[in-house]
Amino acid sequence: MFKSYQFSSAQKGTNILILGAVHGNETAGRDAQLAIIKNLQEQHLSIIKGSVTFIPVVNEAANKLDRRFVDINLNRVVCFHENPQNNEEKIANKLISYINSCDIMLDLHSTHCPDDVEFAFIDHPSEQNKELLSLMPVKTALAGWPQIYADNPQISNFCTEEYAYTHNKTGITLECGYHKSSHAIEIAQKAILNVLAHYGCIAGDTPICQLPQIISLKNYITKANSGRLSRNFKHLDPIKSGEVLAIYDNGQTITADFDGYMIML
Ligand SMILES: [Zn+2]
Repeated sequence: MFKSYQFSSAQKGTNILILGAVHGNETAGRDAQLAIIKNLQEQHLSIIKGSVTFIPVVNEAANKLDRRFVDINLNRVVCFHENPQNNEEKIANKLISYINSCDIMLDLHSTHCPDDVEFAFIDHPSEQNKELLSLMPVKTALAGWPQIYADNPQISNFCTEEYAYTHNKTGITLECGYHKSSHAIEIAQKAILNVLAHYGCIAGDTPICQLPQIISLKNYITKANSGRLSRNFKHLDPIKSGEVLAIYDNGQTITADFDGYMIML
């Protein structure tokens, strides 16, 4: 299923949960956690207040196959399943007990293209979630997924972040960048250590909090036919109102309705 590592102090404090490889092939969060776990086990680092629980590889079966998932996307089924039908629903049933027990959840993901930049998702910009977001070493965060789900009842929003929010937990998702780059592992490590220091779990300087730019998702386009993008867009590229974004093979074009950013997911 999955293996967890808990380090706690006799002194009560914040209980932190760190997740990695919810999508099995996203390894940056896993590798960052394993390095910090080693430091804790070898006592180069210690928990002075509260606790931290690491789950470096949430979806172990998918991780072994170097795949995003085995049966279904785990980050769409994070809820209790009375009669779990597949690998991911079984994991979800175990995972939610860990989220139920934490105060703060950080879910570490990574992306598939070598030049992807790091960013965070903040589905629910509450004060607590914004405080957690301000500890992330990113310049950009994306908000607005819940509205997109609400507009599309055919897709479910049972992700870790939604489960945390609906169970009164503080939680966000960090996309660390390309999952095979050392930079992504460094981003994940920095995020974890910032969180542990800010909530008083480890000694050391409290990190400087800086809220990144929050971009709200306003519109999405699902490719309806064969066609191509108008240029080689990268995730978070700025776009101008009226700009042609994509061209279908039948000549029909898709243009931007307003100035914004291209989100490639
Ligand atoms: Zn992911």
